[in-house]
Amino acid sequence: MSAPPIVIAGAGQAGLEAAAALREAGYNGPLSLIGAEPHAPYERPPLSKQFLASDADAGPDVVALRGADYYQKQSIDLQSGVAVRGIDRKRRTALLSSGERLRYSKLILATGSTPRRLNVPGAGNPDVMVLRSLDDAAALRGRLAAAYLRVVVIGAGFIGLEVAAAARAAGHDVTLVEALDRVIARAVSAPVSQYLADLHRDRGVRILFERRVEAIDAYRGGALRTVRLAGGEVIPADLVVVGIGVTPDTALAQDAGLEVADGIVVDEYLRTSDPDIHAIGDCARFPSPHADGAVRLESVQNAVDQARCVAEYITRGAAQAAPYAAVPWFWSDQYTDKLQIAGITTGHDRVEIVGDPAEHSFSVYCFAGQHLLGVESVNRPVDHIRGRRQLAQLPARAARTPEIRAA
Ligand code: FAD
Repeated sequence: MSAPPIVIAGAGQAGLEAAAALREAGYNGPLSLIGAEPHAPYERPPLSKQFLASDADAGPDVVALRGADYYQKQSIDLQSGVAVRGIDRKRRTALLSSGERLRYSKLILATGSTPRRLNVPGAGNPDVMVLRSLDDAAALRGRLAAAYLRVVVIGAGFIGLEVAAAARAAGHDVTLVEALDRVIARAVSAPVSQYLADLHRDRGVRILFERRVEAIDAYRGGALRTVRLAGGEVIPADLVVVGIGVTPDTALAQDAGLEVADGIVVDEYLRTSDPDIHAIGDCARFPSPHADGAVRLESVQNAVDQARCVAEYITRGAAQAAPYAAVPWFWSDQYTDKLQIAGITTGHDRVEIVGDPAEHSFSVYCFAGQHLLGVESVNRPVDHIRGRRQLAQLPARAARTPEIRAA
């Protein structure tokens, strides 16, 4: 009897990459990639960028991560539209929504994350949208094709800003509503927040800081009418897009008795509290030498590099495999500008700016004391690449910043 397959739960960026990396690393046993969405694996970054401006007939192919024949050629049993509903760890079996019970030799959880919803009256209106999946993006693209809309974007994080840019480029009136006092406050330095806020204002976006949404009101027929803010302010709206962050999809792991704490808790080899089960990508909380303690990251780089790390661990064994230590990096496109971030800059207490925001080309080097934590670059790809190299050569952040940690 042949060995049971390696089963991957979640066929997104991390799940697909894990399957591909296992094959590239020489694993030629059975491999099942189980994905709840009806589409073959696709990339999400274009969904808030080019895809929103694409023709209505541009379908899943434009964002597909692999060609249609890839899975058969690589003997990957891709099951789209099928969810893993439960894990029987004793019997090493995954229970699928199709009714199948699939034994596994190793299980990789790559379940991603789900957008947070607004918890206010009226938030269930169909014109209050989120953007995570290809189907979300197709629905939003359809709405943005209207001649003129008053669009209210709630949340000035990466997704909110990218949607605001796409909606302005399509000629709509756009208001951004943010609870904090600057854009992307949790992930970038103040100078980059300032630059991005100015960029959006210059393009005609109205930004309201330190505002909380209290309700979304509709006309009797269901069409949206206004977004009501705490304090009584009212913004006319035909369409609302909510970009207020995500929560990791940990239910499967939690039900199986694995350790979960805002993410599925894994060690430096991305093993959960069950050594036969790994977790990677948006759903995993892992110890990073580039952070103070454990983190959960939502980026393509993290999904791809963690997938490769696990494939190496499974194919070469613990003694040969390297712990996960990749330098985090990220990008965002807004209008014609590209922001790139190397490292994790949260916790910095000092910045040095190279270049000139007025020239739309600058980098912010973020330090804790003397120690570089990360580099945020706008239209300066060379600084970004150098920053990544520099960070890869530094000792772990905990060793770099002991005095900061002690303070
Ligand atoms: P996902 O890609 O979300 O895949 C998880 C998959 O698992 C989903 O398809 C889900 O349906 C499926 N699933 C969940 N539970 C189950 C189950 N029980 N059984 C089977 N399947 C299940 N990152 C960047 O670095 N740069 C960008 O510019 C950027 N832009 C983005 C724009 C948008 C609109 C979005 C939504 C994300 C963006 N990201 C960007 C983030 C990046 O796409 C994610 O970090 C990445 O997709 C994470 O990969 P993942 O495989 O962990 O999760």
